[in-house]
Amino acid sequence: MTEEAIDVVVVGSCMTDLVSQAPRLPRAGETIHGHKFFIGFGGKGANQCIQAARLGVKTAMVCKVGKDFFGDNYIQNFKDNGVYTDFVGQTSDAATGAASITVNDAGENAIVIVAGANMLLGREELQKALPAISHAKVLVCQLEISPQMSLQALRMARNSRVKTIFNPAPAIPDLDPDFYKVSDVFCCNESEAKLLTGSSVTNVEEAHRAGQELLKRGCGSVIITLGPQGSVVLKAQESTSKHIPVTAATAVDTTGAGDSFIGALAFYMANYSTVPLEEMARRANQVAAVSVQAVGTQTSFPFRHNLPAELF
Ligand code: ADP
Repeated sequence: MTEEAIDVVVVGSCMTDLVSQAPRLPRAGETIHGHKFFIGFGGKGANQCIQAARLGVKTAMVCKVGKDFFGDNYIQNFKDNGVYTDFVGQTSDAATGAASITVNDAGENAIVIVAGANMLLGREELQKALPAISHAKVLVCQLEISPQMSLQALRMARNSRVKTIFNPAPAIPDLDPDFYKVSDVFCCNESEAKLLTGSSVTNVEEAHRAGQELLKRGCGSVIITLGPQGSVVLKAQESTSKHIPVTAATAVDTTGAGDSFIGALAFYMANYSTVPLEEMARRANQVAAVSVQAVGTQTSFPFRHNLPAELF
């Protein structure tokens, strides 16, 4: 694959999820027996990249993993999903990002995240990826790497007139205001919108209001995802705010639904530039709705062949 052929570039995180299921969460100093263990691929950046790739667009991931078993394994996971891996750096200075997750029989969890190598993704790697970034159709960033690196990547894309999607997750209260200015689409969920605006966001009406507040800060469009209520789309150019409902599905596991939505949105923005953003959000809603109906994060993300033809 040549760099010129890459349509979606994601600059972001990779995390290995180490999940133990146990009757209850252990207390400090205690060792207990669990009944199941599995390893999953996660990290918001990688999740979004893999969802876009599964819908059939050429994608590249720009990230950093450790020179360790989990890093090697993650690179293989990207390859298995058709993601271009030349910009996946490996370092001996930190371990691959990992989330140790314990889930009890009531479905509650206790999680320790160690970002590790994700925080070592730096200017050098971005510079290496610049030819791919500047020839892409869409660049996607989140906040699980150093925020300054995300901002730098978004600026690089903007300088080459590449469309940008910024997902301010996990949300930080003192977000650099420049993030809004470099976002063509600023896409977040209810809790992120609440943290960024200081207002409650629990329904469509409140999401319209929060979206208007975010839009004023300088982004081209805002999308707020609302779980089973779908999403709202606001566009600066048209001063419109539209609710895009989704047929609510019986959720089995909603982990990664927002990442599925954003990966799908990147796919649509890269492939259907003349389709209105509201229609892209309608289709992304449907892709994400499929993801909540199966267990796991990337394991639940649909491939193009699992989806109805009307989405393409
Ligand atoms: P996050 O995972 O970031 O919390 P959301 O919960 O808002 O994100 O979900 C993202 C998208 O997933 C929603 O906009 C919607 O399209 C879809 N979705 C989530 N839950 C459901 C559900 N129960 N039924 C149908 N679609 C859902």
